[in-house]
Amino acid sequence: MNASFAVRSTSALTLALALALPAFAQSTAMTPTHLPPVPAPLDQPYPGTIVLNVDATDLSQQIFRMHISIPAKPGPMTVLYPQWLPGNHGPSGPITQLAGLKFTANGKPVEWVRDPVQVYAFHVVVPEGATLLEADYQYLSPLETTQGRITMTDNILGVQWNAVTLYPAGYFGSRIEVQPNLRLPAGWQFGTALETAQRDGDVVHFKPTDLNTLVDSPLFAGRYFKRFDLDPGAKVPVHLDVVADSPESLDAKPEQLAVHRALVQQAYKLYGSHHYDHYDFLFALSDEFSGIGLEHHQSSENGVKPGYFTDWAKGEAGRDLLAHEYTHSWDGKFRRPGGQAVANFNTPLQNELLYVYEGQTQYWGNVLAARSGLVSMQGARDALAAAAAHYDTVAGRQWRAMQDTVYDPILNARRPLGWANWQRSEDYYVEGQLVWLDADTLIREKSGDKRSLNDFARAFFGVGDGDHRRMPYTFEDVVATLNSIQPYDWATFLRTRLDGHGPGAPLDGLARAGWKLVYTDTPTDYYKSFDDRNKSLDLSYSLGFAVNQDGHIRNVVWDGVGFRAGLAANATLVAVNNRAYKPEVLKDAIKEARTGTAPIQLLVKKGEVFRTVALDYHGGLRYPRLERIPGTKDRLDEIYSALK
Ligand SMILES: [Zn+2]
Repeated sequence: MNASFAVRSTSALTLALALALPAFAQSTAMTPTHLPPVPAPLDQPYPGTIVLNVDATDLSQQIFRMHISIPAKPGPMTVLYPQWLPGNHGPSGPITQLAGLKFTANGKPVEWVRDPVQVYAFHVVVPEGATLLEADYQYLSPLETTQGRITMTDNILGVQWNAVTLYPAGYFGSRIEVQPNLRLPAGWQFGTALETAQRDGDVVHFKPTDLNTLVDSPLFAGRYFKRFDLDPGAKVPVHLDVVADSPESLDAKPEQLAVHRALVQQAYKLYGSHHYDHYDFLFALSDEFSGIGLEHHQSSENGVKPGYFTDWAKGEAGRDLLAHEYTHSWDGKFRRPGGQAVANFNTPLQNELLYVYEGQTQYWGNVLAARSGLVSMQGARDALAAAAAHYDTVAGRQWRAMQDTVYDPILNARRPLGWANWQRSEDYYVEGQLVWLDADTLIREKSGDKRSLNDFARAFFGVGDGDHRRMPYTFEDVVATLNSIQPYDWATFLRTRLDGHGPGAPLDGLARAGWKLVYTDTPTDYYKSFDDRNKSLDLSYSLGFAVNQDGHIRNVVWDGVGFRAGLAANATLVAVNNRAYKPEVLKDAIKEARTGTAPIQLLVKKGEVFRTVALDYHGGLRYPRLERIPGTKDRLDEIYSALK
């Protein structure tokens, strides 16, 4: 074949081309309109071992260069680029960053044609006499965050194997063997759950593994690297592999390591099992390497700002990240919703059980963060208050059930939304957390506090200690296990909360835990640290929007005060009551309006147009926090206290 096959040609031209080609090509000519179907994956071993070489040394241009050798036999063949990524819950394989794709066999070029329906599939014809299909290509790390996740900087790189590998269609991912080799920048160190066969200078040869395990075992490497043992002396090791922009960021204090070590022990106490041979938290502390939280069976990718250890006292917001991703080794990777246990990376994922996969992980992530001391008891309550308030004011529940938001990773792939409060966005995470608090406190109440969701976690996720195959489940399995812990109509319990359209978040769990959501004029430390981190002023529960320090208006609450005055999230706040906008000026104006009758006057700019907006609001500043319901049992304290 030649490049003409990439052009949709008339049948006459196709025929002419076919006739003009050598005998081999004549018999196998393909055009985009005459392609074989993409072979469906079958549970059969792929003959031979794929060798994947990745060169990750081009730090200045942030380019990964690959050479792959795929055992092959002559004839038509379809090669896939991974599309459906389990932890992303959607068809988000970064195919636009794949470039320069050139196939060869026996040293001669082999042309490819993209499948017109499955656009992550490439059709080739392997020539007679060839036993290998080879390809050279690049993965271009985004250079700016507007292009995607930056995965290579001067000091850190992350290899997500799905982004750098191709694989043959027609086989289960578990039945394709790959032997990866990686060339690192000189002197760099790395962390990964992959097992190293040997390191020759800066080239690392990994042991052959199946494609599923490879894609599930990313690697972080860095100029500055430290590895901390989080379970000293354990037979099954757990490590924290830290890379950073500078060596100073790597300095974890003993008391900081102690709470990370406690996380491991608290997880073991909760689940009573592990489903890995070893576990590595890959942890990047950087302003340049894009942030991430992505679960894997024997590792997780975690990326936050450089001050994680050095600015420890500045706030606890987001410090449940490692606990969340770690929980996924049990919930999401080992116990996997049936629709997520698919044959290969080009088979659509079905997301309907993500309120367990992500919702319950959100719950346990927060609980384990509190139990281990990563987050204080007060911090855990304040985070819960923020979540409860946020989901209690989601206007979009008027038209869209929380269950339906499980499709957002497929529909939207986390692009920013103009009216998130009305559109809804992946609410199965945090509203899911509230549903599981509801379930936990209900089990506690009905069992006279003898049993709890801890027992569900152990019964559901803790089975098969040491086993790390996938163990798929259904909705009925979840209901059956809940019933085995505490008999109740759990199917109706879940379905009403998942499919309901009523106003307000499911806050029964909060009440049963002995707490209620209230609003005061003082933000909690958690709320403040969240605002500091976002460089914004969140007035969701007073004026019904947030505003950045530079005046950019964000997150306008549908039907809130600002919304009814015509504000949208692409306007800029210029002045408040005729004074130049600053967060303090706006806060003072809200306080003053509380005792007066005059509206708050805003000058806003949208495009080239200035406009004054009068907000007739006199409710003062309002921030959510939790308050004890007198005379009730404090079950939140029990839930957040370390297991003995
Ligand atoms: Zn998650």
